[in-house]
Amino acid sequence: MAKITCDVVKDLLPLYVDDVLSGDSRALVEEHLKTCDECADLCKNLKGDDNFALTKNENDKAAIKKIKKKIQTKRIVTALVSALCIAVIAFGTYYGLHIKESYIPFDESGLRVNGDSLQTDRDFYASYGRYTPDGKTCFIYMTTTAYKTMWGEDRLTTIEDLSDEGRGIKIDSDDDGITDSVLVNSEIYYVSEEYAKQMSHGKLDFRTDEDIEMIKQNSVLVWSAE
Ligand SMILES: [Zn+2]
Repeated sequence: MAKITCDVVKDLLPLYVDDVLSGDSRALVEEHLKTCDECADLCKNLKGDDNFALTKNENDKAAIKKIKKKIQTKRIVTALVSALCIAVIAFGTYYGLHIKESYIPFDESGLRVNGDSLQTDRDFYASYGRYTPDGKTCFIYMTTTAYKTMWGEDRLTTIEDLSDEGRGIKIDSDDDGITDSVLVNSEIYYVSEEYAKQMSHGKLDFRTDEDIEMIKQNSVLVWSAE
């Protein structure tokens, strides 16, 4: 089949679009349109409502832009939420393993008097103590963490020095900055979980002798000077 030039096709296109070309001419134009982008575009423009096509195209573009933006926003939110979740889980795990303290009952404390020291060879997180106002009685308890309970390495630790130098608490009786007297505490008690809780909240009451006696009754005598 003979080839025709772009100029010829351009002349024929309006007729082609209006569908009034004869079979052969029509076939020629169609053959050309397949291989020539320029004429194909021209044909498309002649065929469609240009304005409609443009509007539709712009609408599509806007819609695609909107969707892209939505996807991007979703991605950022997902990333932030994921990061936050990881942070919360990491902190929660760390807190649960290393920071959250739990009370060690006396039976599990491993506490014993060894020479002039009150010692334990169990791994623990912290030991807490509070003296009565007269300095004679010390109430203590120990705490542990999940990590130390599971993977702690037991080692000998001194909780209290019970020697004459160690067990005294120094009282500056006339506020001159010089230690005038030394009171020697006479006993150490390991408090129950309930009193340990009160102690950790600063709520342990030493107002009356009865208060102190009550705490003693709910505690284990660990050491006494007598
Ligand atoms: Zn052409």
